[in-house]
Amino acid sequence: MEKANIDWGSLGFAYQPTNARYVSDFKDGAWDEGRLTEDDKVVISECAGVLQYAQTCFEGLKAYTTEDGRIVTFRPELNAQRMVDSAKRLEMPVFPEDRFVEAVDQVVKANAAFVPPYGSGATLYIRPYMFGSSPVIGVKPAQEYQFRVFSTPVGPYFKGGAKPITIKVSDFDRAAPNGTGHIKAGLNYAMSLHAIVTAHDEGYAENMYLDAATRTKVEETGGANFLFVTKDGKIVTPKSSSILPSITRRSLMIVAKEYLGLEVEHREVLFDEVKDFAECGLCGTAAVISPVGKIVDHGKEICFPAGMEEMGPVTKKLYETLTGIQMGHIEDKLGWLHEIKCD
Ligand SMILES: *Cc1c(COP(=O)(O)O)cnc(C)c1O
Repeated sequence: MEKANIDWGSLGFAYQPTNARYVSDFKDGAWDEGRLTEDDKVVISECAGVLQYAQTCFEGLKAYTTEDGRIVTFRPELNAQRMVDSAKRLEMPVFPEDRFVEAVDQVVKANAAFVPPYGSGATLYIRPYMFGSSPVIGVKPAQEYQFRVFSTPVGPYFKGGAKPITIKVSDFDRAAPNGTGHIKAGLNYAMSLHAIVTAHDEGYAENMYLDAATRTKVEETGGANFLFVTKDGKIVTPKSSSILPSITRRSLMIVAKEYLGLEVEHREVLFDEVKDFAECGLCGTAAVISPVGKIVDHGKEICFPAGMEEMGPVTKKLYETLTGIQMGHIEDKLGWLHEIKCD
């Protein structure tokens, strides 16, 4: 298969259209059979539920080439499950999990020319999403929906190595108790834009959000879960019903236990404890782990011992093991790689 004429090494994280995307319409109470289309435009009512009341949710995953030349995705069934949870919370029809995985496969196959080669560090980012497409003026769920999957090639998250970042404790809240923080809804991102732009203007890479009710517990950032390492080498990740359950974070917890023999705790984490941790990282599909070197809380700095030049040693081990499994250098003991035959 001929690859697209792209300089994989210089790709950033930006959208560019690829050959084909998947569309399925929900009408009269049922999803249609779905299809691939070359049309990258969406035409919907000016009064569509998504445009008026933000009835939409999404997923994000990557397809990439392993060392032995297979094109794979990573645990796509977990993205399918999570989209079911998101849809239910937003009163949207559920897109069946097996059809979700099949739709992603079809999109990757149709865009195999855009799956970056092994070693480039680039990946094909896949964006499944769903939205209310029929007109809604009184506040209620739409009657009709569209499920779509597009893909776009993206560059390596860290160009020239993963440098630790500096983040701030935000004065804004990301999610309310009993709200929508645990689902992947566009609305959670719309309301976070002001907070992230403010943080960037002040020179911080990300926000650490605390729990909205007491502002004493660590939640997450706008788009990644926290992972901490204690001084005695235990992995601790914050637990809360308003944190989005990151697939990367869940996978890293399993890697820590099953591959590295580390102790893992998924529990409430007080902000007061953070200064005593040895390492801190942010987990998400895009970067796997971004190391955090410094957290600033209204002028008070928490500096992690590994400093601002490199990842802490345990974070690095976790990162290398998970990316090793993903790329096929380390045995995929748990069957996490989902191969897509593209010939
Ligand atoms: C998508 C997302 C993450 C990361 O989840 P992954 O499944 O690891 O990509 C973390 N937090 C939020 C708020 C997210 O939307």
